[in-house]
Amino acid sequence: MMSSALRPDDGTGPSGTAAVSRETASPVLPTPNASVRLRPLGLSGSRIEGGLWADRRRTNHEVTIPFGAEQLEAAGNLLNLKLAAGAGGTYRGANDDTGNTAPFLDSDVYKWLEAVGWELAQFPDQRLLALAEPIIELVAEAQRADGYVDSYYQAALPGMEFTNPEWGHELYVAGHLIQAAVAWRRGLGDDRLMSIAERFVRRIEAELGPGKRELICGHPEFEMALVELYRSTGEARYLELARTLVERRGHGILGPCRYGARYWQDYEPVRTALEPAGHAVRQIYLECGVVDVAVETGDHELLEAVVRRWESMTSSRTYITGSLGSRHQDEAFGDAFELPPDRAYAETCAAIGSVMLSWRLLLATGEVRFADLIERTAYNAVLPGLAFDGTHFFYSNPLMRRSAGAEVLEGPATTRRANWFPIACCPPNLMRFLASFPDLAATVSERGLEIHQYVTGSLDAPINGGVVRISTETNYPWEGVVHVTVDESVAEAWTLSLRVPEWCPRATVSLGTERLAESGPGTIELTRGWTAGDQITLEMVMSPRATAPDPRIDAVRGTIALERGPLVYAVEDADLPDGKSVESMEVAQAPILGDTFQSEPGLGELTWISLDATLRNDEPGPIWPYRNLQTGRASLAGGQRIRVRALPYFAWGNRAALGMRIWLPAIARKSDD
Ligand SMILES: [Zn+2]
Repeated sequence: MMSSALRPDDGTGPSGTAAVSRETASPVLPTPNASVRLRPLGLSGSRIEGGLWADRRRTNHEVTIPFGAEQLEAAGNLLNLKLAAGAGGTYRGANDDTGNTAPFLDSDVYKWLEAVGWELAQFPDQRLLALAEPIIELVAEAQRADGYVDSYYQAALPGMEFTNPEWGHELYVAGHLIQAAVAWRRGLGDDRLMSIAERFVRRIEAELGPGKRELICGHPEFEMALVELYRSTGEARYLELARTLVERRGHGILGPCRYGARYWQDYEPVRTALEPAGHAVRQIYLECGVVDVAVETGDHELLEAVVRRWESMTSSRTYITGSLGSRHQDEAFGDAFELPPDRAYAETCAAIGSVMLSWRLLLATGEVRFADLIERTAYNAVLPGLAFDGTHFFYSNPLMRRSAGAEVLEGPATTRRANWFPIACCPPNLMRFLASFPDLAATVSERGLEIHQYVTGSLDAPINGGVVRISTETNYPWEGVVHVTVDESVAEAWTLSLRVPEWCPRATVSLGTERLAESGPGTIELTRGWTAGDQITLEMVMSPRATAPDPRIDAVRGTIALERGPLVYAVEDADLPDGKSVESMEVAQAPILGDTFQSEPGLGELTWISLDATLRNDEPGPIWPYRNLQTGRASLAGGQRIRVRALPYFAWGNRAALGMRIWLPAIARKSDD
């Protein structure tokens, strides 16, 4: 149900003025000449009007984004920009892991502004606009006459601009400024941030553009933003700068790194690197820029190099949740199959970056596997990052939390939700992700309309010179039935493509009472002359399932996970008898699973999975936790058999901060056990 404050945009713009002709309101908008198969519908063409995503997006709009403005004030981000604008005071920023003051606080402001831009494009809201207006003015005031704007260098290290490409994050910050500017232009027809961004880019270009100093930024991000700036302005120089920066990387331009050159992907050119490596967010953001350059320049070799690394990533370095990055020390991808559940770093930003990358690859290739990973990651790696209350966040998303709290770490790796972080990249990233999420639901192509993500909502797609309007209704992800109604069509035949997710064993499609198609995972393509009133029903078999890991993932060998539809499940101590812990829990290798849709205080309506488990009677006190199999019993002491329930992982950590685990130790029981 939509509240009055969240009425979809009626096309009259935030101030009630007549709509101006705008670019499609999408964060990624390939030019007409780009080598892509699919094109986005944007936020005016793809709307979410009900269900789980509508609920989470309403929380984002009404609670999280306003809360974000308070946090940016409290954490000093806005103060720093005021210093850059001439106010007195000292730059505020937490120390990073080198002991240096974090230089990238402006980027959180820009991600927040980007989120507001996309939200206002969909839901005019004077309150949000009033929060954003002074911040846009502040950025304008902070910009120097020569175009430079970065509060860290202006307020903390004046005169030191462009001297620390390794850790300075100047281009990273500029990239987020551009993305905010793109949101305000495409979403609202407002060019104030765009003129600030273009002036800053000209200043950067004069410093390190083609033929100038051979610099790159330690943290990729600028590359994809530059391509979007090119797409929005038509200025080829921005694409050329992005291409130059992509090609420069991998030649050891950045200085020595204590984590090695792989940390910032400067060890091997992007054309030849075979695997994702180093800092996960840096790698993923770089890949996004590489895809953008590849499709705009028609460079198939470059695109294939990214697809190769995406395949390496998904086959050996991705958690079942879709999360990326197992190493805490350098926030990095681990080795192949190094995927520990308790020590997963699994940064929320890396998951968001993974969706950004798969979306670009989906547009480029049209291949359904990219939409599959978007779904898995969005539900199980991004959504867990935001608490149901809208004001608590996860930076790190481990797949297990020990009951005793021994793994409660300080800083980003805490396994308890926090209001904000000293380095707060994740919260505003969640805000912009949720704000622009409807864009990922569907695309348009020369053939017709492709539905990738199932939500209750509506689509407007330009097809054959006309407009096709579709509405969709579903209880997804709780049920696998999706009703698609053609509200308006064009005379010629066109193709409606429906994704059958990788988790779905069998799906059928009917038109009224007529069975049209049946399929396993992949795509169902329906080509015909559609007319208004046609009602299509997609039915996907959705039942709970147990999933075993590849035995090479040593850390979880001998366990199973529970899944249902696109969701990964977890068991929390909160659902066990008092005093019992998931660490003492064992389940059968092939358990009989039940499922129940029910409402729970604080969690709302969820489908729970139930199964039998044994809670071991672990010996109290210190013991030697290894057993001699020659002389000892094959199994531990008996325990209590109970029925337990598991909840969708995205809902974990919203109750008491107790134990949780996704991977459940599974035992092959003897009949007399
Ligand atoms: Zn982050």
